[in-house]
Amino acid sequence: MCKRFGHNAPRPVSIQTLVLCVVGCACQAAHGQPAAAPLTTAPAPSNGDSTARPTFSPEAYLAHVAYLASDELGGRGIGTDGIRKTTEYIAGTFQRLGLKPAGADGSYFHAFDMKAGATLGDDTTLRITGIEAQPTLLHDYVPFPFSSDKAFAGEVVFCGYGLVNAERQHDDFIHLDLAGKVVLVLRGEPPGWQEEGHFTTFASFQSKVSSARNRDAAAILIVNPKPEADQTDELMPFQPGSNSSDFGLPALHIRRTLADAMLTAGGLKTLDGLQTKLDAGQSCSAALKSIRAEGRPAIRWDRTEVRNVVAVLPGRGPNADECIIIGAHHDHLGTQLPGQGPARGEPSDTPAIFNGADDNASGVAGVLELAAAFARRGPTRRTLVFMTFTAEESGLIGSQRFVADPTIPLDKTIAMLNLDMIGRMPEGRDRVQVFGVKSADEFDEILIECAEQVGIELNSAAAALGGSDHASFYVKGIPALHFYTGVHDDYHTPEDDTERINEQGAARILEFVYAVTEELADRDAKPTYSTGGGASHPRSGFKVVMGLMPGFGESDAPGMEVAAVSPGRPADQAGIRRGDRIIRVNDAKVNNVEDYMAALRGKRPGDKLTIVVQRGEEQMTLEVILASGH
Ligand SMILES: [Zn+2]
Repeated sequence: MCKRFGHNAPRPVSIQTLVLCVVGCACQAAHGQPAAAPLTTAPAPSNGDSTARPTFSPEAYLAHVAYLASDELGGRGIGTDGIRKTTEYIAGTFQRLGLKPAGADGSYFHAFDMKAGATLGDDTTLRITGIEAQPTLLHDYVPFPFSSDKAFAGEVVFCGYGLVNAERQHDDFIHLDLAGKVVLVLRGEPPGWQEEGHFTTFASFQSKVSSARNRDAAAILIVNPKPEADQTDELMPFQPGSNSSDFGLPALHIRRTLADAMLTAGGLKTLDGLQTKLDAGQSCSAALKSIRAEGRPAIRWDRTEVRNVVAVLPGRGPNADECIIIGAHHDHLGTQLPGQGPARGEPSDTPAIFNGADDNASGVAGVLELAAAFARRGPTRRTLVFMTFTAEESGLIGSQRFVADPTIPLDKTIAMLNLDMIGRMPEGRDRVQVFGVKSADEFDEILIECAEQVGIELNSAAAALGGSDHASFYVKGIPALHFYTGVHDDYHTPEDDTERINEQGAARILEFVYAVTEELADRDAKPTYSTGGGASHPRSGFKVVMGLMPGFGESDAPGMEVAAVSPGRPADQAGIRRGDRIIRVNDAKVNNVEDYMAALRGKRPGDKLTIVVQRGEEQMTLEVILASGH
């Protein structure tokens, strides 16, 4: 217990005081000893009597959130000092609660290294034959964060907006042989294509790059359309994040002045002239006479060590060799420096910290408070594993790496409970959403019973293949649940702050999760894994489904890994298997999840796809008939 601020004095009144007291503790951490975590104030029964259920202290809970979402931790971005302090804080809390380390080498950490952004080499080049003034890096052109770093050279071909949309029978690349050519396209799409004021997915960089790459182009140059009155022709800042993936083609953003010089020297109209025709529905795709482009985007990826944090409360009893994981991701989006492109919300000229109070300091604080309550309760029959994951925002990388190289026996893991965004229960409601209810036969009954005991309103959904860490365990055959209070306007913005957390609501959810955990830990029979959780997550927004879950992990093997196949769904019926790597969808080459998503875009239920998979040494061609995503 930290004495410095007299923690056992009456409860601090305001957030500031709370933050102050926790930061105080943080400075202790800075002095080498893990930070002092305020423990739950409500004493849990110490004699293993599970009937007396603890209540959770909203203040103690909020103190964790306040520290984890403090500006000091800078939004817990990958490769930052803030995320390192975060893992030390979590490990320090586990240690103080008496939980046993369950990471690698007797530590609390399960560490590995991953991509953490990239730098642009000054040996990046672009040379245009056929024009006077040669372009300069960062002034006239810049590689995109998703560009490959391959050298390229080829004649330049203008291809309008670079759109392929079967529904509209529109293809800007039609009748063009683009093999070895450098494709020049406009960003965006013609007016009238947008849906609810948003560009369609056909206008995404991903779609344009895949279309050019699938036609064996050597590179793609993308130029901004005519700027609105209050806008200027800006190049995108080069700031690849840990979740940037390489789209498999050199891709550069060029200024309109450079594009105009190439187009007019190549015998075409200016950009304005061409755009007017395109927006009127005319096609303008044509080769530029005697204009060649060659160059190389010298992108150097940095790697950094990241770590999951793992601790256990050993069980006592006949099932002590079995375990339940209670987890949450501890990373978030970090800090956005001035001028850096917006993730969401307005770009600012001051550093914008994505504090991530709800996403996901709220879940981590929940794991710490549950660990405290069970540490006080005394051992359950089964072992409890409390863990937090890194790099969830980068594509479930921490949890995927853990299930690939676990430090606890996954075959003895009977369930995984994931807390991701539990901090924003709607005011005046006492309700929790739970995904993954169909991932085990008994979950429905258990959840309803526990909800009644605790008196909380339950809103449950079948799917366990949703966008958070529980999915990584579900695909490994472990029943998994995701506890959640819903999306909100501050999601993935700098406004996701501690002040907006509903700590009373979160404390109620912890009572519920405590009850569910205790039931799973002490019941005789373990839950029965069910494929019923395999439905695609309701929020995926896709009109069609294949019924498979992509693997997100980094790999040098070609194609996209199939991490799970839902029985009875199109992929399964076609004979696709877990572990296969999809390398082609119809004519589209697939290198990663984005290519796969792009290949499904615009498809309709009933459409037939030819899928080529790599299964070990063997390549197989399979026919899939898509099903409806609704
Ligand atoms: Zn999250």
